[in-house]
Amino acid sequence: MKPLEVVVLGSGSIIPTKNRHHASIWVRREGDVFLWDCGEGTQGQIQKAGLSFMKVDKIFITHWHADHFAGLLGLIETFNLEGRKEELNIYGPEASRFVSLLSDMSWYDFGFQVKAVDVDFEGKEESILVEEDEYTIRSVPVDHSVPAVAYCLEEKDSLNINEEKAAEYDLYPGPKMGELKRNGSIEHRGQKIKLEDVSDVTEGRKIVYSGDTLPVDTVKKLSENADLLIHDATFAEETSHKHSSARDAGRVAKEANVKKLLLTHYSRRYKDLDPLKKAAEEYHKDVEISKDLMKIEL
Ligand SMILES: [Zn+2]
Repeated sequence: MKPLEVVVLGSGSIIPTKNRHHASIWVRREGDVFLWDCGEGTQGQIQKAGLSFMKVDKIFITHWHADHFAGLLGLIETFNLEGRKEELNIYGPEASRFVSLLSDMSWYDFGFQVKAVDVDFEGKEESILVEEDEYTIRSVPVDHSVPAVAYCLEEKDSLNINEEKAAEYDLYPGPKMGELKRNGSIEHRGQKIKLEDVSDVTEGRKIVYSGDTLPVDTVKKLSENADLLIHDATFAEETSHKHSSARDAGRVAKEANVKKLLLTHYSRRYKDLDPLKKAAEEYHKDVEISKDLMKIEL
């Protein structure tokens, strides 16, 4: 399987603490790197985590509250100073409006294209934002105090030829097998063989990040059978300012049959996060508390 990792760059909420920076999640699938949110201090956190910000391909902003985007301008200027040439796509609800405002706030003449991609934030439908051969990145609207979305990276299932199964069709490694891999089916010794007839299926992995939201069905649906759900858990038990509690997050994870739930975006009132973990565990058995610079490999 290709490397797939998540690094929590910031686990705090609107007011950061000494140990919890503003929201940002680093997602890497093999050579492709994405940031999900880019709160203040993201550049510094990338360096502390031993990562390279020049590797970031695309940035996805869940909503335009400063704790989720205030690190953008500095990061873009760093890209510029370091000689970035590749286009940078910034996704988010009303991204073109906000990216244009941000660009006007700086004297820099960027040596690369910054392209804003508006993401649908109304209704309940998923949008496909990135479609690669091996994975997609999608979004759904959520319910926060401003237009906001959740993001998901999902790998496509992959088919790997099982030579024993292939031998049953009198098919062996060679040009014919290559043709089957390329075309998905072949005619061989008078019969049609499909790739799935002779392959094992490796199920793709899935990561979802809710951003700031009340518990909502759109996130639940997006998270179905996900390997990892990173969910807003601003409070332990109550819901306020259109944020979820850890208990809500636990319920969403349970109902979506998620393998692992990672809580994040904690109110600064919690020095000890154990009550949040316990509240989520009322519903889900595999709950982890995110910490800044924590890395999860899937
Ligand atoms: Zn927030």
